[in-house]
Parts: sequence; C-alpha cells; structure tokens
Amino acid sequence: MATGTISQKIFSRASGSAGMVEPGEIVEAGVDYAMSHDGTSVLAIKAFQEMGSQRVWDPEKIVIPFDHIVPANNETAAELQRDVRAWARGQNISNFFDCGNGVCHQVFPEGGFALPGLLLVGADSHSCTYGALGAFGTGVGATDMAEIYSRGRLWFKVPETIAVRVTGTPRPFVSAKDIALMVIGKLGADGATYKTVEYIGPTIEALSISGRMTLCNLGVEMGAKAAIVPPDKKTHAWLAGRARQPYKSVHSDPDCYDYEHEYDIADLEPQVAAPYRVDNVRPVSELEGLKVDQVFIGTCTNGRLEDLDQAARILKGKRVVARTLVIPASREVLLEALASGIIQTLVEAGAMIGPPGCGPCLGAHMGVLAEGEVCVSTSNRNFPGRMGKGGLVYLASPATAAASALTGYLSVPEI
Ligand code: SF4
Repeated sequence: MATGTISQKIFSRASGSAGMVEPGEIVEAGVDYAMSHDGTSVLAIKAFQEMGSQRVWDPEKIVIPFDHIVPANNETAAELQRDVRAWARGQNISNFFDCGNGVCHQVFPEGGFALPGLLLVGADSHSCTYGALGAFGTGVGATDMAEIYSRGRLWFKVPETIAVRVTGTPRPFVSAKDIALMVIGKLGADGATYKTVEYIGPTIEALSISGRMTLCNLGVEMGAKAAIVPPDKKTHAWLAGRARQPYKSVHSDPDCYDYEHEYDIADLEPQVAAPYRVDNVRPVSELEGLKVDQVFIGTCTNGRLEDLDQAARILKGKRVVARTLVIPASREVLLEALASGIIQTLVEAGAMIGPPGCGPCLGAHMGVLAEGEVCVSTSNRNFPGRMGKGGLVYLASPATAAASALTGYLSVPEI
C-alpha cells in the first residue's frame, strides 16, 4: 500500500483518488466544512451572487461565526452584518454564530467541526489553527469561498510537508507561543510557503490542545498552507462530546516528510516578535525595559482558558501599570473563566474585559493604538497598521504580556 503524509492522505480521500496523491499534484477536492466570518462572508456572498449561484451546496457544512467587528462599531458594519444574517437565514445555514460567541477559530473547533482527517477551508488565513486537531485546515480568499459555497469543491496543489520535531522540557513560563515564535524566527516568514508544517516530537505530544492551537494558528506566519499536529489520545478526549460526525484519524508514514528540522527547546527563553515582522524574533530578555503603553491578551492565538489562567496567576493580588485589555476567545472560555475566578482576578488587577471576538487584533476597534504607542500583544501579526496606523505591536505569550502589564515595561515573566 502506498505511503504518505497526513496531507497526502487527506487529499487522497477528499479528491476520491484511487491511489496516494503526490506533493505538487493538482487535485479537485471536496471540502468537509467551510467557514467564513462577518468580514469575509460579505465578500463571499457578493461573489456567490455574481457567479449566478442560487443555493449553497450544503447548508449543514457551512459555518458562519461573527467575530471581527463585534458588536458592530458603526452603521456600515451593522448593515453588512444584518445582510449576512438575512442571507444565512435564507440559505438555511443553521451553524450561524452571532456576535458574542467568539473568534471563528475558537468557535469552529469548540463546535466540533475540526476533526482528524477532514479537509477544512476557511475564508480567513488563520484557518490553519484546525490542524491542532489533526485536520488539514487552510485559508482561502472570498472568491474561492464563493465557489465552495456553490459546489463544496475547490482545486488545491497537494503540499510538501516539513516535519518540525521539537524536543526538551520547556522552562517555566515558556509556552507554545514561544516555541512557535522561535520556529518562525528560524524558518522565516516565507520559510514554509505552500507547505504543510507537521509538528512532532515529545514536546509537542506534551502540549495541551490549547497549546497545539496556538502553535498551528501561527503556521501561516511562515507561509504554511497548513500546520498539523498528529492526532492522539488528547485529541480524542478533547473531541469527546463535541465531534459533529464520526472521524478517522490519519498519520504520516515514516520517511514520507519532504524536509525535517529538529529543535531542542530545553534552554529556550520567552520569545517576542518585534515590529514589523513576525519573524523578527528575539528573546524577551534582549528587549527588556522597553516602555509599554498597552497589553492585549486574547485572539485566536492566545485567548483560551489556559492563556487567561496563565495571566491571572501572574497578576493575582497585584495591580497592572500598563492599560490591559483581556478578551476571551469565546463565550465558552468566558464562562469557564468566570466560574474559575480568573475573570475576577484579572478585573481586580485592573484589566478591562472585552466581549468574545477579535477585539483590536485587526485594528478596527476596541483598543487600537495611538501613533507611536507600544502594545505587547498575544496575537499573531505585527505588520504596520495592524492595530492602529502608527502603533508598534510586540507579539508575545500571555505570561510575558501579563508580566509586562505589571511593570509597564517589556518584562521576562518570573515566579
Ligand atoms: Fe484574525 Fe485576529 Fe480575529 Fe484571529 S483574532 S481571526 S488573527 S482578526
């Protein structure tokens, strides 16, 4: 029997190939679930209508969470959201998650749509997050999404796979974010262009699903088409009671990877990506003392319970100096953080809590920066203008963000 990687096996099944598809091969594949959010649905619906399409291919397979500008910040956003709601209703799309449910890349896995072995496509570049559960998750533009709305199919080039093997026990306060930033710093912003990055090794196996989501979320920041962690017992345990359908895990066969890298992270320090590139990565200790105006803990990268808990442990009983915004990634996360006292701790420390969603991550509202202001953010992008025209965004872990909130300067987290 032919051997292959997780990506090859998923595309072989999804394209109905009799044999194993090969990297570089162009295939037309059936998409298992498609996702578009409030921003991209607007454009995808327009393209869908311009194509002359009337009905979506399968209303049960389309997922629409509202997250980018929630609640709407002006009349234009409110009207566009109203129109998407009406279209979804008219198409009988029941997997519609209105304002307040959370960020698309958290709502989608929580809803049980991200399953091992599936081909998942989102009209958002960070759809690679779904690889944390052993799926092939990838982002497309609105026109491609319109094609998926219509036919449920799209063409793909089967990607090569880079195996990134990570070994070593992380030091205190070194998390999946630090590992991901380190790898991006080593491989570069275009180091995995149109490839799958498959994270393997004992350090990855020890990560929680939350940590694996952080890791895979950042895959696109080195150009990856997908980032995948092979599914294991933790994956199945996390999916128990969530999975929308039965699934069959697939794994890469030995010696099938096209490239391999190995990193021992035993000595890794907390990392930060300085503006204006995600691959401008350095140890936090090198930039320690940089004055910080704002700290933002949230987003599809680091807005999960584990992230908020990490921040709360550092802030407990203390008071922030930099203005601090915390936005849980979803309603489920918010409820858990309320029940466990994490929100109380964060509020008592002086943090502001925003409604589940993207918050200021995309620079649209709710915490954008003034010219020259510095923000330590747990998000995934620090390009010019990302969080306000003249702002300077330093990407870091929740622990580094919380430590910096306490001092008002970029700080290495300590016990
Ligand atoms: Fe995009 Fe940021 Fe929203 Fe994630 S949190 S989907 S990166 S805008």
